[in-house]
Amino acid sequence: MNFNCVFPDCSFKQNNIEEKDFVDHLRESHKDQIKEIAEKQDIPIHMAEMITTSNSKVFINSG
Ligand SMILES: [Zn+2]
Repeated sequence: MNFNCVFPDCSFKQNNIEEKDFVDHLRESHKDQIKEIAEKQDIPIHMAEMITTSNSKVFINSG
């Protein structure tokens, strides 16, 4: 799977990685931001991680 981190101040971009590898990136680099999203939307941390992960997925039309 290809990921392009959704946070504008982050340049993380990786192709052919597993979803869990991206979640590791979130936990390493965006712990505070994830916590903020979870608090703002009143959802659990793991759900904020899931949403951010899905928003960071890049779907390439390889035609
Ligand atoms: Zn990032």
